[in-house]
Amino acid sequence: MPENAASAAERLHAVLTTLRTTLRTTLDTQISTAPSVREEHSHGEAMNASCLPAAVVFAESTEDVSAVLRACHAQRVPVVAFGAGTSVEGHVVPPEHAISLDLSRMTGILAVNAEDLDCRVQAGLTRQSLNAQIRDTGLFFPVDPGGEATLGGMCATRASGTAAVRYGTMKENVLGLTVVLATGEIIQTGGRVRKSSTGYDLTSLFVGSEGTLGIITEVQLKLHGRPEILSAAVCQFENLHDAVQTAMEIIQCGIPINRVELMDPVQMQASIQFSKLEGYRPLTTLFFEFAGAPAAVQEQVNATEALVEANNGLGFAWAESAEDRSRLWKARHDAFWAAKALDPQARVISTDCIVPISRLGTLIDGVYEDIKASGLRAPLLGHVGDGNFHTLIITEDTPEGHAQAWELDKKIVARALALEGSCSGEHGVGMGKLDFLETEHGAGALSVMRALKNTMDPHHILNPGKLLPTGPVYQG
Ligand SMILES: Cc1cc2nc3c(=O)[nH]c(=O)nc-3n(C[C@H](O)[C@H](O)[C@H](O)COP(=O)(O)OP(=O)(O)OC[C@H]3O[C@@H](n4cnc5c(N)ncnc54)[C@H](O)[C@@H]3O)c2cc1C
Repeated sequence: MPENAASAAERLHAVLTTLRTTLRTTLDTQISTAPSVREEHSHGEAMNASCLPAAVVFAESTEDVSAVLRACHAQRVPVVAFGAGTSVEGHVVPPEHAISLDLSRMTGILAVNAEDLDCRVQAGLTRQSLNAQIRDTGLFFPVDPGGEATLGGMCATRASGTAAVRYGTMKENVLGLTVVLATGEIIQTGGRVRKSSTGYDLTSLFVGSEGTLGIITEVQLKLHGRPEILSAAVCQFENLHDAVQTAMEIIQCGIPINRVELMDPVQMQASIQFSKLEGYRPLTTLFFEFAGAPAAVQEQVNATEALVEANNGLGFAWAESAEDRSRLWKARHDAFWAAKALDPQARVISTDCIVPISRLGTLIDGVYEDIKASGLRAPLLGHVGDGNFHTLIITEDTPEGHAQAWELDKKIVARALALEGSCSGEHGVGMGKLDFLETEHGAGALSVMRALKNTMDPHHILNPGKLLPTGPVYQG
């Protein structure tokens, strides 16, 4: 074993010894070096990268997280926060001799302030569990990524979902945080108020920081009133441009639509098969949801129907019952698994581009050319109301297959960036998007980000190698 690897192993051993002796008596059930547990924490979804953590520590409180980071900071041992592991850009893949710090046991709801429409939760709670538990209050939390993600992980990736077009992303829905810094120090950011003009916005700094600046243990969230009625419809189009034009006009006209999602014919074919959607054809399809008081919903529906008609839509099919509606949205959330089912032996790699909505049609035209030239199958779907879409590149699960998919991804991202877009609307950077950051942000902005990282995590123990490519650091 090389000398530096031996010393890394010794430092890790020192951390585990410290944790076993200084933490709570239940800690034995909180530290695992079992191969199966390490394997579960060695990778996220979709990406090929993986590396076994040396140990997995299951935190049960903010104090546990603080103790782990104090020990790791002292011994320079890397720590990777792990929520549910649903991220898709290699975010949770640990470096060698690292600890994976699993927050999924921290599932408490600490406060629900129904009259102020906010709540405070522990970071390991999932949004599905939060919504089930606060159902009786008439409130809900709207950010809905497809996976069964934790709210801490969603903060860390600045996640969004189908409802972002109406309610915004995690960025707009987090009021404050409890964060454990690299040294183990615990801080509070933000608060309960809807706005404040004091100080630097540390909450926004941690939202989207992918576990590289601190570990989030509690989240203060905005809640929203459940709408009086919900109404969902599907409209198919012979031509993808007509569908994109319809979505664009809905947003430009200011129709407060709850969701508007696109599937192209290849994705629609996959979802019809996988989710047993009856009565639909493999055509470009828009899924709509309208919400509000009955009169307001009717107004939105009328305005949307007029736009659909003007853009050659083939008419609305309504999902009348709650069951039909949830079947439709489940089919949308299961789109990744539907694409995977097209070839169960293959790997599915999701791209995630966003452009100003008026450029979406131009981008998709170019992406189709790239898909055709690649010879790969790549269903396309998107949160089209935000200008954000994914291609699910289906490729052979071999190094050559991955390289081919990566080439296609690079071309798609280059097109989005050339149209003043971003290489990720919602999935984040992790390891997968590192190469694009300089083009997107510029060298100067990246050097400031590196200076921030160095200040907050001087020994680079927090999720090293993610979010920031190496390079010059702003010196002032
Ligand atoms: C089928 C499918 C559909 C998806 N659809 C969407 C979608 O529509 N929109 C979307 O945004 N994403 C989507 N995703 C991606 C994924 O669900 C999100 O990135 C999600 O926010 C990750 O949450 P998690 O709890 O699984 O975090 P993890 O995967 O466990 O972690 C993600 C990152 O956050 C860090 N982290 C985790 N917890 C904490 C914490 N408490 N404090 C600090 N850092 C932490 C980790 O170190 C890592 O860098 C989808 C994924 C799948 C598999």
